Amino acid sequence: MKEQMRSILKRADVGRVLFDEPMSRHTTWRIGGPADALVLPESESQILRLMGLIGEYGWPWTVVGRGSNLLVRDGGIRGVVVKLADNWAALDIEGTVLTAEAGRLIVSAANTAIRHGLSGLEFATGIPGSVGGAVRMNAGAHGGEVGRVVLFADVAFPDGRVRRVDREELGFAYRRSRVGEWGALVLRAAFQLTPGDREAMIRQVKEWTQRRRQTQPLSQASAGSVFQNPPGTHAARLIEEAGLKGRRVGAAQISPRHANFIVNLGGATARDVLELIQLAQEEVWRRFAVRLEPEVKIVGEDGETGG
Ligand SMILES: Cc1cc2nc3c(=O)[nH]c(=O)nc-3n(C[C@H](O)[C@H](O)[C@H](O)COP(=O)(O)OP(=O)(O)OC[C@H]3O[C@@H](n4cnc5c(N)ncnc54)[C@H](O)[C@@H]3O)c2cc1C
Repeated sequence: MKEQMRSILKRADVGRVLFDEPMSRHTTWRIGGPADALVLPESESQILRLMGLIGEYGWPWTVVGRGSNLLVRDGGIRGVVVKLADNWAALDIEGTVLTAEAGRLIVSAANTAIRHGLSGLEFATGIPGSVGGAVRMNAGAHGGEVGRVVLFADVAFPDGRVRRVDREELGFAYRRSRVGEWGALVLRAAFQLTPGDREAMIRQVKEWTQRRRQTQPLSQASAGSVFQNPPGTHAARLIEEAGLKGRRVGAAQISPRHANFIVNLGGATARDVLELIQLAQEEVWRRFAVRLEPEVKIVGEDGETGG
């Protein structure tokens, strides 16, 4: 299948294609084995053509944005990885509605909104993901979340249909939306914003940025919070109280600064991170009978190839 896929993708008009591409180059953790084919489409027609080929030939596929919530296992990803980042990132503002293509950094969308005196996305200025990833994950911070400001998203379904889906149908919940259940791809999203005081928004963002700098290991490779917060408590607190801050496996470490972050000290493998994830789950369960669920998405196959 791999050879057939290669020869078809080489000839197809789907954007740049990178074969056997290390996913460590496409994740903020700097971890992950090779993708059989990583495709960077630059237009809606290229995205839909690619989805059509995926459907026609039954290739496995995965969509990624900025790779800031992604653990790719060391054996890499079989089939096609569709990457939507700077290659698909136009932005438009009409009145109080901001529309951005899925690859746009949500930080950039938020900062553009603030420049235009539009409020609603300030909470996202510290989230290093794409608009598509933020919708899929219902990314949130400081009491705000993407699901509250989304007006609609244009979604490409695996059967080739593209539909405009409104907020209600997107079914947002804590770090979740129906996009995951559908196994679909977000093409673009529109956000309903409100006129706001630019200076007040800038002050608020500065305060939050400072707080993040003090409490998160931002100079090290990570994927942000590894676990979801269990109802009524914080994953970081439980991991810290279990005495795991600073614990290392290989070159991965539970951050001494923020216990819900696992940092790559240089050359960590997915297996190192997975061992730490398991350790945190076991210890927190043993001590507090609380089950920690990963927030990060774990994809790909086991293996030793690293990358
Ligand atoms: C330092 C740091 C701080 C962070 N802080 C926060 C925070 O405060 N709040 C928060 O919520 N998150 C935070 N995160 C996590 C992460 O930035 C968010 O989850 C973000 O929304 C992920 O976007 P992404 O483009 O990187 O997605 P990826 O990591 O590329 O993918 C994540 C998931 O989304 C899917 N996906 C990506 N693009 C699309 C698309 N176009 N269509 C359909 N599915 C798609 C992928 O298949 C995967 O399942 C942080 C991460 C880091 C590294």
